[in-house]
Amino acid sequence: MGRLTPTVPLLAALLRMLSASTLEDGDTDETVVSYKGYQLIRVFPMDGPQVDLVRSLVDKEEQVTLWSRHFAPSRGVDTYRRNQSSAADLLTSPQVKGTVVDYLDTHHIAHLVLIQDLQTAIESENPPMEPEEEEWENRGGHRLSWTRYHRHKDIDSYLDYLANTYTDICQTEIIGKSSQGRDLKLLKVSTGGKGKPAIWIDGGIHAREWISPATVTYILLHLVEFRDQHSELLDSVDWYILPLANPDGYEYSHSTDRLWRKTRSRVGGSRRGSGCYGVDPNRNWDFHWAPGSPSDSCREDFSGPRAFSEPETRAMSEFILSRQGEIKVYLTVHSYSQMWLVPWGYKEEKPRDYYDMYTLAEKGVEALEAIRGTDYLLGTAAELLYTAPGGSDDWAKGVAGIKYSYSIELPDTGDYGFVLPANQIEPVGQETWAAVKAIATHFADGHN
Ligand SMILES: [Zn+2]
Repeated sequence: MGRLTPTVPLLAALLRMLSASTLEDGDTDETVVSYKGYQLIRVFPMDGPQVDLVRSLVDKEEQVTLWSRHFAPSRGVDTYRRNQSSAADLLTSPQVKGTVVDYLDTHHIAHLVLIQDLQTAIESENPPMEPEEEEWENRGGHRLSWTRYHRHKDIDSYLDYLANTYTDICQTEIIGKSSQGRDLKLLKVSTGGKGKPAIWIDGGIHAREWISPATVTYILLHLVEFRDQHSELLDSVDWYILPLANPDGYEYSHSTDRLWRKTRSRVGGSRRGSGCYGVDPNRNWDFHWAPGSPSDSCREDFSGPRAFSEPETRAMSEFILSRQGEIKVYLTVHSYSQMWLVPWGYKEEKPRDYYDMYTLAEKGVEALEAIRGTDYLLGTAAELLYTAPGGSDDWAKGVAGIKYSYSIELPDTGDYGFVLPANQIEPVGQETWAAVKAIATHFADGHN
């Protein structure tokens, strides 16, 4: 499908409204963002003052963005493992790179370059579609694979394929629509019967974290298409799986800006040329939600004009509440940093039943690490990262009352960051599936 490039704005708007296939290819009048010469620099602040210096650099310098930070104080008493020193990853434009390095050197803050040229990493991340994959679709199947990252419509049609092929256990449900009108399609996997515990898994809340939906569909592949290998997990547990929770942002990250994180709603009354697009869908949940002012609308972590301003978060929350009591585990899959995060994320204190939550998570992490030795950190977001309000995992625990609520931050630890090469989908999928199986086995064994 080619991209339409009308020159009259009104015509463009009309065409967008009329043509779903145009929409599938993303926004039509944006040029693709290039990250040529951008570098990812990891900094290692040694103490509080150095952390503050890094923070003020990010705040002041518009062309420096924070990809990931691990400003954890060195408590380490009850975190699973502490094998990473305090670090932050900064994406730096070629224009300010020299200034940034001078600043770090002047303040004696250790640093190293993780990615020499981000555009090169982006261009080699995802191999082209194989001819066989195209053919397979023509034979009435689907063209999803786990050797490359696919667009929304391939992921969507895989869910339809599963529902049409495994009619006895799979059912799709459209739980809502995105701002731009894309279906939020969920797959329910169940062998029937009432009163079973259910596990919810969502992927792709953050658009640029491509490894997340790829891993969630890998989990679906094994759960459904290799069901004979673990029939007890289907007999005793129901599954609600939403691989792409933010399809607009995901498509935009394919078509226009590889590093897009948020939704694509129009916020702050923005029209083209004023204000910014999108809300961080992991700051938008109605539990200790922190309001952002309209002037924050350009920030990557803008929490939205109000809690649940985004149709995506609203639809997910309504579905989850409609299954309240049934869903026993909430898993939300993000990247990157190799962490298994336990609430709370909005404050330093831990929930009263933290020990139970931690113990089950430990089973998942141990099963994951047994596959190929990938190191994961386990603890609260406040311990391992930073406190942040309005996250989906806190809401699932605090409002929906789901005892076991976790965020999984998939690989890597910064060698590629968000731009993880597609040849990592299968190994990441295998180990994450092992973790999910370990969690499900707990319930298959009759625990609650
Ligand atoms: Zn994320």
